[in-house]
Amino acid sequence: MVENLKYNKETQSLHSGVNQSIDSLQYPVVGSTAFKFADSKTAADLFALQAVGNIYSRLTNPTVDALSGKLAGLHNAVGAFCTSSGHAAQFLAFANLLTPGDHIVASKYLYGGSITQLTYTFPLQFNWQSTLVDITNLQEIEQAITPKTKAIFLESQSNPHGVVADIKAISTLANQYGIPVIVDNTFPTPYFLNPIEHGATIVTYSLSKYITGNSTIIGGAVVDSGAFDWGQNDKFKLLTQVETSYELSFFETFKNMAFTLRGIAVGLRDFGTTLSPFAAVEALKGLDTLHVRMQRHYENAIKVARYLETNPAIGKVNYSFLDNHITNKQAKNILPNGGSSVFTVALKQGYEAAKSLVDNVNIFLHSAQVGDAHSLIIHPASTTHSQLTDDQKTKAGIANNVVRLSIGLENADDLIADLDQALAK
Ligand SMILES: *Cc1c(COP(=O)(O)O)cnc(C)c1O
Repeated sequence: MVENLKYNKETQSLHSGVNQSIDSLQYPVVGSTAFKFADSKTAADLFALQAVGNIYSRLTNPTVDALSGKLAGLHNAVGAFCTSSGHAAQFLAFANLLTPGDHIVASKYLYGGSITQLTYTFPLQFNWQSTLVDITNLQEIEQAITPKTKAIFLESQSNPHGVVADIKAISTLANQYGIPVIVDNTFPTPYFLNPIEHGATIVTYSLSKYITGNSTIIGGAVVDSGAFDWGQNDKFKLLTQVETSYELSFFETFKNMAFTLRGIAVGLRDFGTTLSPFAAVEALKGLDTLHVRMQRHYENAIKVARYLETNPAIGKVNYSFLDNHITNKQAKNILPNGGSSVFTVALKQGYEAAKSLVDNVNIFLHSAQVGDAHSLIIHPASTTHSQLTDDQKTKAGIANNVVRLSIGLENADDLIADLDQALAK
């Protein structure tokens, strides 16, 4: 293990959590469903969680573990586990905490798919209820907390509105109620922000976006600060009570590793939302260059956003790093070096103008993806956010005249010229 604290972020991106016993430069893909046991005692110990080692790749796999170790290292966290998607990461994080009848206080500024997950499927199928709140309003968050609340869930910089949360203040509030704060940090990535430094308990990621960076895989991760005392109240029985199948309490046995180990030993075992080692190696490669790519994504995005502000066809450019954004002060505060390159623009001429922009750009690819090396464009109201009600769309700031841009790694002047010619049509 490399001592993470000695290095700056750029070096950590390449060297954190590296297993020094591997002599290949790049992580080998261990494409194996299962693993050999040394003897019967070792096999029995592994199954009883009395020993550390690989059994079956639904639970652990060396390539996937290398990625988990690297992500844990980047956050100075006690552990991490990877999942088959960002949504699976969120699901397994909640599944470690909630039983039927429990409650989540969630930001109303979330990725559209997360709103759907929290407000339709979770309550319908698991009776996990959610209250959506304005995450910039501490009083609203506090009022939404009930005795059944097991988590506060938010995006550090939201997709696509760029609302930046005051994680420190929210974590302080959550601490008073003995509730963990779960932060989806997909947009700033660990390069621009470590939510754990601001008090977050758990950090989730979609690896499908900036971290892998070129849209080759779907994946997710859950990073565990290890800082939450799961035994402080009677709320987190899944972690504190004796788990029947293993005949042990995760919290009593594994202390600050309880969340991570239950996520793997129960979550991945029973829900099976495992990341493939073939996908993990793509995310590992992505982490090698994350810092360089994120700097360029941000530089390009701020240039393009500033140009769009001057274009007469544009009503408003909604980007966290522009002075007129509702959480610009907060963005300057916790994202001093930049963040996601995704933002929205509202066209003065409404839906028709929005469609025309999407249809007339040449460089931007028309796609529901964000955080790719290529610049991307989409009309959210009729696509990514079409499953939301009109009320939810309004709350999420996705009107019919809004277009979402994800600025890639091309030359910024070429991107500006492309938008300029498309807006002129
Ligand atoms: C894409 C995305 C997700 C979901 O991730 P998948 O890998 O697509 O399941 C969650 N949160 C944010 C902010 C996202 O952009």
